[in-house]
Amino acid sequence: MKNCLLFFLFLISAAANAQIKTKPLVKSGLDRPKLVLGIVVDQMRYDFLYRYWSKYSEGGFKRMLREGFSFENCNYSYYPTYTGPGHASIYTGTTPAMHGIVGNNWYEKASNKKMYCTQDDSVTSIGGSEKEGKMSPKNMQTYSVGDQIRLATNFRGKSFGVSIKDRGSILPAGHGADAAFWFDSESGNFISSTWYKKLNGELPKWLKAFNEKKEAEKYKSSVWNTLLPIEEYTESTADLADYEAGIIQNQNPVFPYDLKLSKENGYEIIRKTPFGNTLTADVAKALVLGENLGNDDFMDFLAVSFSCTDVVGHAYGPFAIETEDTYLRLDRDLEAFFSFLDKQVGLNQYLVFLSADHGILEVPAFLEKNGMPSQLFNQKKLVEKLKKFSIQNFDSLDLVKSFMNQQVYLDEALINLKNLDRKVIVNKFIQFIEKQDLVTRAFAYQGDRPFPNVPFLEKYEAGYFKGKSGDIQVVVKPGSLDHGDKKGTSHGAPYSYDSHVPCLWMGWKIKHGESSQKIEIQDIAPTLSSLLKIMEPNGCTGSPQSIPLKK
Ligand SMILES: [Zn+2]
Repeated sequence: MKNCLLFFLFLISAAANAQIKTKPLVKSGLDRPKLVLGIVVDQMRYDFLYRYWSKYSEGGFKRMLREGFSFENCNYSYYPTYTGPGHASIYTGTTPAMHGIVGNNWYEKASNKKMYCTQDDSVTSIGGSEKEGKMSPKNMQTYSVGDQIRLATNFRGKSFGVSIKDRGSILPAGHGADAAFWFDSESGNFISSTWYKKLNGELPKWLKAFNEKKEAEKYKSSVWNTLLPIEEYTESTADLADYEAGIIQNQNPVFPYDLKLSKENGYEIIRKTPFGNTLTADVAKALVLGENLGNDDFMDFLAVSFSCTDVVGHAYGPFAIETEDTYLRLDRDLEAFFSFLDKQVGLNQYLVFLSADHGILEVPAFLEKNGMPSQLFNQKKLVEKLKKFSIQNFDSLDLVKSFMNQQVYLDEALINLKNLDRKVIVNKFIQFIEKQDLVTRAFAYQGDRPFPNVPFLEKYEAGYFKGKSGDIQVVVKPGSLDHGDKKGTSHGAPYSYDSHVPCLWMGWKIKHGESSQKIEIQDIAPTLSSLLKIMEPNGCTGSPQSIPLKK
């Protein structure tokens, strides 16, 4: 009898093994999109959806607003508002306090080294220069929604990321992605790294073929002129302004831009023009075709980030013709991409969401000129003064190790070596910093809430990760910028101009509509998870928001 039972169990297990080996493609029976497309427009503030309304095509941003659902009040719930943290937060459904991407760069206390958000010295480049390929999602401590799609489909659904910027591609795609691809300025190719084991150390055939077309070469020797006649850019300020940084050295920041005149190394200039976004859309299309995305019963995931809006925005500010032209061209790229997906994947077969990794402050000099309060906060000067203060007050010791993301990092090794009282140092530093121009508050990160009346304290807490964030937070006035250059502008603050971004959903079963309810950036991933009937990413702290669906 016992033997009989064992034989029976053997038969069951053999049958199960056979089933695993053949992996039959059985439909899940659930109504899910075939492809989920996440789009991040780098530095796109909420108002850009409407500022250029009259000049947008019918098939890009306007199509998303006309056919889809818009959360009109989506905000970043943490500081610092930079690219790495923004991408990580959208796709992991949480904030830097949980996913650990506290800036584009930070100082690692344990190793005493500066760290770049996607830096990974243990991997090597595939298809491009060594330096730009040593990248992976290793520093991100929680899953992305792409990872959850992989898990939910038993790894049958594919997951990819693509962007000009490495961090715009790697962090969204997640740890378990099939691959992320990004632009290498040295070779002009889209590349990857050995983190992605499925690549087997080689770029896929379709990407090799794409790189061989040398599109980057074509753009590098082209001229950037306005898409429409320049006099039609009535939403923007005059073409020549002395506060614009420009993109080509020793050339006036005015149209047309002959990109051949750029003296920069390799293909760097492409990142500074709308052509980099077109190139991104083109490689994304090649990826959809090459990897056959959205073509079976297991939903695939593609994260595309358009980065050039950010580089142009930094150089010219949000109200320049160059910025407007970059958005008008991106809008056309989106229109073409959606119409490509309509044919390739099918109408209502794909679900797309669009947001941004942060916003942008108007150029301070422009605001000042128009009588609005705004000033440059010179962080370099503050660091010099603070170092001098330290030397004068603490036995000729410079206790400032680093200053990043508006945070002071103390030299812990020196403090320990000299057996100094850390609390005394912190308090003296805070008193000194608070006396500086444009600084409203400074406070220490000590695990408690020492200054409960600091505006946006919860935003600072949500952005703090022990061992990666600095020791003292410097809070500057709204409209003030820690940007060394008087030309151009930047982002990073907790204020509305850096935190209010678009949040659009379109396709699959999404019904048209809009909501003015305030939602937070970490709500995007759980909202998507809820629509797809999958688990939210593992460190998720956001809440699913309701979007009406067609029956
Ligand atoms: Zn960014």
